[in-house]
Amino acid sequence: ATTARQSLKIGMLPADGIGREVLPAARAAILALGSSIPKTEFIDLAAGFEHFTRTGTALPDETVNILQEECDCAMFGAVSSPSRKVTGYSSPIVALRKKMDLYANIRPVTSVAAEPTGKPSVDLVVIRENTECLYVKQETQTVTENGKEARATRLITERASRRIGEMAFKTALSRPRKHVTIIHKSNVLSITDGLFRETVRAVPTLPGVDGRYDEVTIAEQLVDSAVYRLFREPHIYDVMVAPNLYGDILSDAAAALVGSLGLVPSINAGDSFVMGEPVHGSAPDIAGQDIANPLAAIRSAALMLRHLGYGNGADRIEKAVDQVIREGMVLTPDLGGKSKTSEVTQEVIKRI
Ligand code: ATP
Ligand code: MG
Repeated sequence: ATTARQSLKIGMLPADGIGREVLPAARAAILALGSSIPKTEFIDLAAGFEHFTRTGTALPDETVNILQEECDCAMFGAVSSPSRKVTGYSSPIVALRKKMDLYANIRPVTSVAAEPTGKPSVDLVVIRENTECLYVKQETQTVTENGKEARATRLITERASRRIGEMAFKTALSRPRKHVTIIHKSNVLSITDGLFRETVRAVPTLPGVDGRYDEVTIAEQLVDSAVYRLFREPHIYDVMVAPNLYGDILSDAAAALVGSLGLVPSINAGDSFVMGEPVHGSAPDIAGQDIANPLAAIRSAALMLRHLGYGNGADRIEKAVDQVIREGMVLTPDLGGKSKTSEVTQEVIKRI
């Protein structure tokens, strides 16, 4: 996805809660880059739980059509999850990942020197397979003479493991340490996790790779010990690649290493589309007060731009964010500050 573009059409899906407060910050950060990226056009699109309660649909066809037909990429805010099961409602973000074939969830976790966490320094990225594993949601329940019995199917395919593996190696190549750790549990699940592990391991030997990944070192680790080491010595990790369920757990665990959820960005990526998404949810407890931390959303915009090949623009945004955090003068309450969402955003824009 690095072909030069005349213009960049970005679908904006703020959805619910603080998603609507932090997405304008991401937009402002992209606009602040000026002419160093192609001319940008933002297209506002409907989605979310609130939209569902008004119209009966959480992800209108029109939104999907415009994303597919017109947009180069998108930014998603956050979606509220109803506390009880609501008939007819299903998460628009899950549907979007499927419809746009966004098979990789990429979550870098980086601590900035002066982040008020007192925790060890971290610079890693979790690459989570996003389409299969236990999340194919094939569950059944039967009643036996011993009571209820529930089962779930876990799907691991060579195709999905290979493309997530390729994403991991490609990502490693763009980072200073160039190190991939494959996360699995193939001592117990030798067939499913065995296939994942072997397929990812074989990526450097695929036809056409031609030694491109020769510099990348590979390690592997059982998921339980990976969680333990992630907390004790997070600095040993660079790129961690994992099947869906382990990746889900690991990426939240890794986020906990750097303090506020309001700092952690992600992208959902496929071969022809990328969507930035802050890791946090809609935060109903603070929504509407202009105190949500916009930095995760701003960092997500930077990741999206980097994925599209605009590394310089991404660097400028990320450096500005890091400066604002280090200086510590203008921060939202989750980081111990007293500033508003809009003030933090202005501070970042000034530095860009
Ligand atoms: P949801 O169901 O949408 O996930 P939630 O109640 O789980 O909602 P989260 O958004 O996951 O809320 O946030 C968990 C906690 O972290 C909340 O207390 C929230 O206020 C806080 N939080 C999340 N994002 C931010 C942010 N950007 N800035 C400040 N605080 C945040
Ligand atoms: Mg939540």
